[in-house]
Amino acid sequence: MQTLNGTALAKKIKSVLAIEIEYLVNKYRRSPKLCIIMAGDDPANSSYVKSKKKSCNEIGILCDLNILPYATSQQELLTLIDSLNQNTEVDGILVQLPLPKHIDQNVVLQSIDYKKDVDGLHPMNTGLLNSSTDALIPCTPKGILSLLKAEGVSITGKHCVIIGRSNLVGKPMAQLMLRENASVTVCHSKTRDLPYLTRQGEILIIAIGHPNLVNAEMLKEGAVVIDVGINSVEGKLVGDIYNSIDVNNIEKKAAAISPVPGGVGPMTIASLLENVVEIYKKRMCD
Ligand code: NAP
Repeated sequence: MQTLNGTALAKKIKSVLAIEIEYLVNKYRRSPKLCIIMAGDDPANSSYVKSKKKSCNEIGILCDLNILPYATSQQELLTLIDSLNQNTEVDGILVQLPLPKHIDQNVVLQSIDYKKDVDGLHPMNTGLLNSSTDALIPCTPKGILSLLKAEGVSITGKHCVIIGRSNLVGKPMAQLMLRENASVTVCHSKTRDLPYLTRQGEILIIAIGHPNLVNAEMLKEGAVVIDVGINSVEGKLVGDIYNSIDVNNIEKKAAAISPVPGGVGPMTIASLLENVVEIYKKRMCD
């Protein structure tokens, strides 16, 4: 069974980006800049934003972290986003989700200038993804597609089954796979007979957030499996399937699987960096 090594590919992408950024900064005399906004002090979120900042800094992207108190009002958040929208030195804006419960996430995401929307979650980018190729693509699906392509997985004509229909992962993933000429089935918590559908997946993408829901019996022989899940079990980071209790049988049946950690996670960050550079280049050429 092949392991789809996201860590290695992300490292390669980052070193290519670093060279490109050095060239672009010499040419345009300004570094690309990302602003991350986080409200509250959730430890998992804090560690995600810190690792995003570290990755930016490693390759020459400036990164401002705006960590706001949990009690920040929606209006305060919107005012900050408005100032970042206007700021010509800022290329990308990322609002770390989830936001505190008293804040309407949709209102906040829609307030970001869609041309600076590095996460690709603004309805304008969602619409562009559905209708053309010129969209900012959400980082996790974009990273998964890069990983599949880099590992030589052919997609055209394949049946891709996706478990999960979130705006962040499942829905944009389905659009991307359609664009790559796969036939796509999207499953969710109300899907009847999930195993019947997953057993048809030549490419199976699992983005649920519950370990051990999918076992070897639910896989098609020779499937390429992408594990998006991040779960903490007894203090250990596990995926939705990669290190599940049925791991030995899964490894015998699947042709390839992305590990957790070291699969989709690093590719998500690499795609974020790619999106920042893509926006920067567009803005400098406009
Ligand atoms: P989400 O918004 O909670 O969506 C989970 C999806 O799973 C929903 O569509 C839900 O269906 C479906 N689901 C839940 N229980 C199910 C069941 N028993 N059978 C079938 N479908 C079921 O989560 P998300 O944001 O997409 O993230 C999913 C996982 O990926 C999480 O573990 C998250 O931490 C991880 N993640 C990882 C990365 C990374 O970079 N590695 C990035 C993003 C997310 P309904 O729609 O019917 O509720």
